[in-house]
Amino acid sequence: MGKKNKQFVEKITAMEDDFAQWYTDVVKQADLVDYGQVRGTMIIKPYGYAIWENVRDELDKKFKETGHSNVAFPLFIPESLLQKEKDHVEGFAPEVAWVTHGGEEKLQERIAVRPTSEVLFCDYYSKNIHSYRDLPKLYNQWTNVVRWEKTTRPFLRSSEFHWQEGHTAHATDEDAAQETNRMLEVYADMAEKYLAIPVLKGRKTDKEKFAGANYTLTIEALMHDGKALQSGTSHHFGSGFAEAFDITYLDENGESQFVHQTSWGLSTRIMGALIMVHGDNRGLVIPPRVAPTQAMIVPIAQHKEGVLDKAYDLRDRLKDLVRVDIDASDKMPGWKFNEYEMKGIPVRIEMGPKDIEKEQVVLARRDTGEKEFIPLSELESRLPVLLEEIQQNLYTKAQTHREEKTSIAKTMDEFKQVLEEKPGFIKAMWCGDVACEEKIKEETTATSRCIPFDQETVADTCVCCGKDAKELVYWAKAY
Ligand SMILES: [Zn+2]
Repeated sequence: MGKKNKQFVEKITAMEDDFAQWYTDVVKQADLVDYGQVRGTMIIKPYGYAIWENVRDELDKKFKETGHSNVAFPLFIPESLLQKEKDHVEGFAPEVAWVTHGGEEKLQERIAVRPTSEVLFCDYYSKNIHSYRDLPKLYNQWTNVVRWEKTTRPFLRSSEFHWQEGHTAHATDEDAAQETNRMLEVYADMAEKYLAIPVLKGRKTDKEKFAGANYTLTIEALMHDGKALQSGTSHHFGSGFAEAFDITYLDENGESQFVHQTSWGLSTRIMGALIMVHGDNRGLVIPPRVAPTQAMIVPIAQHKEGVLDKAYDLRDRLKDLVRVDIDASDKMPGWKFNEYEMKGIPVRIEMGPKDIEKEQVVLARRDTGEKEFIPLSELESRLPVLLEEIQQNLYTKAQTHREEKTSIAKTMDEFKQVLEEKPGFIKAMWCGDVACEEKIKEETTATSRCIPFDQETVADTCVCCGKDAKELVYWAKAY
């Protein structure tokens, strides 16, 4: 923990010294969350929630554009309902929180607090889908779920978290497959264009897929420390749940058919990705498109006559153009600079008596720290362009980082060496046998992240057993 490495803000640990502590420090100092009273729960504070709201609104818009409707299903699931699909209940059983009493009275049947809502939607669909005319059903809900986790960290793993879960039912397997792909693309697009986080798109191995799914598609992102984060998943169920829950419809020929389903979810975990992909030793760095405040005006020498008036004028001029705010509190400018750097606000606008005299402002970028002097008359044209430059720069930086930390391994020795020397994504061939996947995890703690859609052949044989390779897999240690 070299003190010399602690730059600018004494309060946070340098990421090179202790990445986990840096993360915790940033989450706290940037005022994103606080800890709840029950272990593993979190209070999302106004600034954290404002960022999440922007993610949510952006996704919600896309869900509606793709024909989905929002609904709200209950928090509770009767135990008997949860038991209906065998793989599903086995997958979630260890994490379920149970309600056993109503007031003083012991319940006849235990009630689960939803860890996810597949069975509730299946039960509903079994009663409300009758004919091909009822299909597709394209539902989504914004909600919270509970999973009793042993080790927890804000946003990354918490006992209760916020997310959306889409649940759809279709007439054919192909329609369901298309939906699964479509929603993965929605997630990938949001991550890359909105959050400036480059993602790998691919399919999970059977070992890593969702409990009860036919297959799971995923977007995977690489964090600053070289660990991967699963950032959104889209599951194809085929007719597995429909058979367990007897969800049938009469087709155009009057014959009874099972529906084909999907589900897909993206959670507040994405906040963890945002922090760990873009953040630095000064704190958060928020890409302009998702930033609740894109530009913060900090008046300099604001006690001098006219400065505050000019600063407010500036805010009024810009407020329809960008999300702008002003800090006219009596705190020192240096304190304000640190505070808004910690919060990752993309641009700081400084204006003092000298600037007013010269009819200019100073624009300071959060991502590079660069400053530029802009004539007041050009501010309206320059600021949106600058925000776009920052957005692009953050994406490019993250992509370069990911490329630098992506390696190829052809043998287990190479695999282990890479993990040791340059942790990140490892591209390695796999024979398709779960035994090899398990052995790799056991020996290295790295897991298969995805079988990428963009396949290539980096070797002819499986990295683990040396038998003929079937496909390329991305591996990494993961959150
Ligand atoms: Zn193998």
